[in-house]
Parts: sequence; C-alpha cells; structure tokens
Amino acid sequence: MTLPTDFQFNQANLQDYVDCRRRFQLRYLLQIAWPAIGVEPALEHERLLRLGAELHRMIQQHTLGVSEERLNRVVQDDDLNRWWQNYLQFLPANLPQERHPETLLSAPIAGHRLVAKLDLLAINPGERVVIVDWKTSLRRPSKRWLVERLQTRVYRYMIVRAGSYLNRSEPIHPEQVEMIYWFANYPGRPERLDYDDVQYKADDVFLNCLVAEIEGLDEGEFDLTDQNERCRYCYYRSLCLRGVKAGEIDGFWEEIRSSNNHDADLEFDQIAESEY
Ligand code: SF4
Repeated sequence: MTLPTDFQFNQANLQDYVDCRRRFQLRYLLQIAWPAIGVEPALEHERLLRLGAELHRMIQQHTLGVSEERLNRVVQDDDLNRWWQNYLQFLPANLPQERHPETLLSAPIAGHRLVAKLDLLAINPGERVVIVDWKTSLRRPSKRWLVERLQTRVYRYMIVRAGSYLNRSEPIHPEQVEMIYWFANYPGRPERLDYDDVQYKADDVFLNCLVAEIEGLDEGEFDLTDQNERCRYCYYRSLCLRGVKAGEIDGFWEEIRSSNNHDADLEFDQIAESEY
C-alpha cells in the first residue's frame, strides 16, 4: 500500500495503529467520520474536553507572559478554576527557565514525516531539556502505562532527533531529556520519566519499523483488533459490528486508573483530551 505522499505520522495515529489496525485505516486512510458517541454521558464528556482545551490555552498564555490576574478573570467554571489554581500552586518545581509552549517538532522517518506538538518545552541550552504534558484526566494512570504510550516514546525521541534548533544548534543527548506528565486532578503527583541512549536507539528502531510495517500492508490487512474491550470507547463499534452502546465514562476512568492491566489500554488520548 502506498500512503498519501503528504501523510504525517504522529503519536495519536501511531497509537491507533498499535491499538487496532482497522481503526487506523478507517480514521486516517479512508477518513470515515462515523456518527457515534465515544463515551457516555456524552455531554459530560464534551464538557471535560472543552475545559481541558481551555486549561491548555490558559497555561500557554501564562507561559507567554499573560498575567495570572488577567487569566483569573476568564475562569467561569468551578472545575476549571480548581485545575487552574492547582497549576499555579503545583507547577512542577525546578523547570529550566527558557520556556517554549506548543513546540512543534518534525523529522523524516522511513520515507515519511513524524511530527510532535509538545505542550511545553523547558530548556537550559546545553544542559537540560524537560518536556511537560498537561493532563486533565479524571484518574491518574500508572507509570507503566505512561511509559508504553506512543506519546512518551515519540516525544522523547523527537526532542533528541529534531530539537537541536532549540539548543543553540547543538545536539540534544538522550540523558539530558526528561518528560513530565502533570495531572490537573493530582497536581502533587506528576510522573517524571527519564531518557537514555539505550531507549533512544530502541525507539529509533521501533518507530522506523512501525512506519515501514504500515507502508507495507495491503488494503485487506488492516485487521480488527482481537481485543474486543478496545472497541467499547471506539466510534467505529457499530461499523465493525462490535456493539452499539458507548462505554460509561466512569468505567473508562476506572480502567485507566487500574491499568496495570494492559487490556485497559484504551483510547486515552482521544477520549481523555481533544487535540489542543
Ligand atoms: S470498533 Fe474495535 S475493531 Fe473496529 S476500529 Fe474500533 S477498535 Fe478497531
């Protein structure tokens, strides 16, 4: 199969592929918009997505210099206000001073392009680089689950691969990189993930092989996942004859929280947060 020449890989579409080849095909290659609800209750889910997007915007503006007082005035919702106050009070300590919100990274990979958009990059050029990702999920996922997410693998890999322009044109070494997941509902319990050369080389092989594998599939080889639990929160359930009723939001978060069970490797990024 030949992917469209302008097709770009990112952590979300690679995660979809790893979770279910068929979902990748439906969403990104066939671009089928299937009218279904991902999570029930839908209105509450939409509200949380909207508030999550709002918090990301506020943090971005704050990082760029908009005053706390001015941003305080736009907060209308109690949950958003709680998240915002948590951010102000519990911003991960000891971040490098040079801050780049919404940083874009791009690099060629196996004949295509891999892109990443980081919520925040904090850097002391030549010394230390910290990727921060703001999460507004209702439950805090396990470290093991986060380590295995494509987001973790792609973001840390990409800052080494394509981040030298932020480091005075000097290469960034894996050992200089740290990734922090900060949880608005668990502000005092961020997850800090180090990086090293062994993991960087493993990510390089893994990501190149993954893209080459996708490129090598024929149209009929995008199989449905055999892990039916992954279908519960997938918009294509009825199309795939995997049920019609959306999963409950509480059940979703319970599975994320207790996700030492990797069968609960669900659509966290798509459901928990929209593309900010
Ligand atoms: S419903 Fe299940 S099989 Fe179909 S695309 Fe979604 S995850 Fe894959």
